Amino acid sequence: MSFDYLGLSDELLSAIKDAGYTEPTPIQKKAIPSVLQGRDILGIAQTGTGKTAGFTLPMIDILSQGRSRARMPRSLILEPTRELAAQVAESFDKYGKNSKLSCALLIGGTDFAGQVKKLDKGVDVLIATPGRLLDHMERGNVMLNGVEILVVDEADRMLDMGFIPDIEKICKMLTKKIQSLFFSATMPPEVKRLTDTFLKDPKEFEVSAPTATAVTIDQHLVKFRGSDKDKRHVLRHLIKTQDINNAIIFCNRKKEVKIVNKSLNAHKFNAAELHGDLHQSTRMEVLNDFKNGKIKILVASDVAARGLDIPDVGHVFNFDVPSNPEDYIHRIGRTGRAGKKGTSFTLSTQFNKKYLDGLLKFLDKDIPIYKLPDDVLGENSKPVDNKRKSKTTQNKTEGITQKETKDKAEQKKENKNKPREKVVGMGDHVPNFLMR
Ligand code: AMP
Repeated sequence: MSFDYLGLSDELLSAIKDAGYTEPTPIQKKAIPSVLQGRDILGIAQTGTGKTAGFTLPMIDILSQGRSRARMPRSLILEPTRELAAQVAESFDKYGKNSKLSCALLIGGTDFAGQVKKLDKGVDVLIATPGRLLDHMERGNVMLNGVEILVVDEADRMLDMGFIPDIEKICKMLTKKIQSLFFSATMPPEVKRLTDTFLKDPKEFEVSAPTATAVTIDQHLVKFRGSDKDKRHVLRHLIKTQDINNAIIFCNRKKEVKIVNKSLNAHKFNAAELHGDLHQSTRMEVLNDFKNGKIKILVASDVAARGLDIPDVGHVFNFDVPSNPEDYIHRIGRTGRAGKKGTSFTLSTQFNKKYLDGLLKFLDKDIPIYKLPDDVLGENSKPVDNKRKSKTTQNKTEGITQKETKDKAEQKKENKNKPREKVVGMGDHVPNFLMR
């Protein structure tokens, strides 16, 4: 089925053709006609399914009739993160290039005065993170009584980030007659309560089960025994031996993101880090450099995992098994998007047993094991069953060489430090000896 039968205008069809899309994705087939009919929508869909175009395309056609007024946007899109908001704005630029719609982005960390100026001129599409929007509303820079269409994207992510009360506050300020479109990858009770309250007879659809991973992703689990230092060694081995165009490496904590990135750079890999501690402009810059190929490896925290639209990411590495199993879906969902082929590797050592068990239970299936060649970590390259070894076998693998004894000592030291958020006395500085 082509886009021609969904009821979109010729201008949009031409922009879609220029974007290189030949066929609508399942969510687009379902969402576009319903949005054009003015229905409320509840879409259970993960990122990578084409959901952004699923709501932006029909919105562009609906909003092409009518005019904007100062400080009174005609539509409002709420996104949990600045990056996602910026991506949706890019989608409006791309698909709306043949229309005259004006668009404003209200996100933290960027020019506040510039945002006020745009609002003063009047905007058709307002894309915002909840906090920044409320900030502008409290100062009287924006009023919501002209909003005709509301989109709440990644509602479950909003919940994780504590934004549900803000969303409720914002929804209550809208008139009763608006059309509302809610998207969420999963439906926790808090999100269900929100949609039950604010959606009117919504058209509901689910494009894939919440635990489903894209079929186009080749998933691998790399199990071995070792320290974080060994993990970095295994990671480098995988990067070197796989045919990698670009890759995202996910770590559970910001501190690990920094260490892994520093280590990769020390080993001459073209890598950069992306996490919540960076200034917004730096985050945007890093993301752009990664998108245009200047940076090949992005080391990221989960802030970057959800929704980032980076086409053609070939590989995703989980340096850590994610503590929240759902994050696994979002992380590996950065690859294998819109039908493309992708590969993921999840590294797991004896210290990750709890999270790995939780993940496999959540997925309800095994992740195929990737066998490390023996020369990568010696005896420790073998997949661990995470069971305690007997004293005799332990002795066999311990202390064979001086290097291994040293690794063990280092491993113990790392373990001791593990539960702590900060290494006392080190602050954010990571000494070089930890990076090798
Ligand atoms: P999203 O789930 O909205 O983040 O979109 C995931 C990716 O799919 C983005 O890179 C889009 O540009 C791309 N995409 C969206 N719709 C289509 C389509 N109909 N055909 C091919 N790619 C698409």
